[in-house]
Amino acid sequence: MSLSPDTETLRRVARLRRVIADLQAHETPDERLVTVTVPPETPVHEIAGRLTREYAAAADINTSTTQTAVREALAALRDHLREYDTVPVNGLVLAAGVLDEARVWTLDVLPASVPSLRVERDQRFRIDPLLAMCPDPTPERDAALLADLFARRNGDGTAVAGFRPTRRELTVGAVEQLLISERLVADVAVYDCPEGHETHTLIASDEPTPDRDCPVCGAVANGERAEPAEAVTHLLALADRHGGDPTLVTPAADCGERFHAAFDGVGALLRYPTGE
Ligand SMILES: [Zn+2]
Repeated sequence: MSLSPDTETLRRVARLRRVIADLQAHETPDERLVTVTVPPETPVHEIAGRLTREYAAAADINTSTTQTAVREALAALRDHLREYDTVPVNGLVLAAGVLDEARVWTLDVLPASVPSLRVERDQRFRIDPLLAMCPDPTPERDAALLADLFARRNGDGTAVAGFRPTRRELTVGAVEQLLISERLVADVAVYDCPEGHETHTLIASDEPTPDRDCPVCGAVANGERAEPAEAVTHLLALADRHGGDPTLVTPAADCGERFHAAFDGVGALLRYPTGE
């Protein structure tokens, strides 16, 4: 699958925002969370050398549990780095910390270049270089779009909300503006029932695809992950193919939480009424 350059940037921003939200959720009582930012064209051995020096310097950490946790995080980062022969085109951001167990986060397809090589240790992940890569949230613009969406949906029918109605309008080329919540994290499953009805549904990421009743005839339908499975990428690819200007909307906007909770965080302003 290839997306147009603008849509690809949007996809990268959407992924970055989700990882940022995940990283922001963690805070530890001691300084054990390690964030590594690597600019493009940095030789991998240089990063490995830096991690080795940080590992040695951890000898100066007085508290033994913190020292152990930091070293475990640095070792996990060094292991992870072996997957790279070269640094990706916009650089690399790695984060690691021992929470219940050692965990590593990777961002290697970034919307903008990483400015400098930094290894930082703190009670929180140092996400400021990541935030700098995201366009500023625009709650006023997003609130206006969502107000328009709800008004038109209840009024002349030139808007839809929810994954399935929005997907349907995308596939027939009726979408003028596609709205996706920044917080949308889900995969798309395709269900085929024995009567030949095909439906697309959002399912939680990294969970098995359960059997469902076909919404048309009620027969038991088997599901499989759609290609691409990730919901944001799936919707962006449809918008690329059939038309529709995509926008990520912030949950901080008025109606943003309602849009996310009640409508899957997916909706569209249409070129003409749906007729439903
Ligand atoms: Zn059916």
